[in-house]
Amino acid sequence: MDGTGSTDTPPVLILLGPPGAGKGTQARRLEERFGLVQLSTGDLLRAAVAAGTEAGRQAQAVMEAGGLVSDDIVLAILRDRLADPDTARGVILDGFPRTTAQAEALDALIAETGQTVDAAISLEVEDEAMVARVSGRFTCAGCGEGYHDAFKRPAQEGVCDGCGATAFKRRPDDTAETVRARLDAYHAETAPLAAFYDARGQLARVDAMGAIDDVTEALGALVAKARAA
Ligand code: ADP
Ligand code: ZN
Repeated sequence: MDGTGSTDTPPVLILLGPPGAGKGTQARRLEERFGLVQLSTGDLLRAAVAAGTEAGRQAQAVMEAGGLVSDDIVLAILRDRLADPDTARGVILDGFPRTTAQAEALDALIAETGQTVDAAISLEVEDEAMVARVSGRFTCAGCGEGYHDAFKRPAQEGVCDGCGATAFKRRPDDTAETVRARLDAYHAETAPLAAFYDARGQLARVDAMGAIDDVTEALGALVAKARAA
């Protein structure tokens, strides 16, 4: 074990970036290309809310207001998910860690299996564009493909390009007002993580204002490089 992310342990990759930066979209693509498991704490929390668990009940109001759910709840949910055998293929974390305390807890958690963070990739975007992106977005209820009222409508109105489903979902926190609160939380709590990973030589930055495919290409190159390191 050389103490840095290496090819002999399953990769742990982190996507950093504000709401709307494209973490979920890109994580899904990297999952396919590299055979990794996307792990979104936002998705896990929404599932807990939908299931009506105790953690979900506690998280719901905070999420609807655009704040951060407590580290205790998020860590418990993540720890459970990491116990599932599929995560042994390697994970791409989307929306976690979001605080320095979570970053430290992640180190401790993956150290139990001899793992370290391979790379933290920051998706660099402009705040104002994020308000527009997030407040118009929706996803396919069948396959999870992302769409946008202005930027990416299905080729045939009301039908998913990917799977043909006709039902779509919008998140209750994807309103212009709540996005601003989420951006504030991001700058206060999460943006400092770039410096945290940079100090350890694990940070990479990608311009994420461009076309989705261009961002995927830049990310793919970085992940391939991190895996080879
Ligand atoms: P986004 O990145 O677009 O803000 P997510 O789906 O990642 O959306 O998260 C939605 C909400 O879930 C957040 O606004 C927050 O309330 C909660 N949440 C998700 N991940 C975390 C986390 N790691 N720590 C605290 N709260 C979280
Ligand atoms: Zn679909």
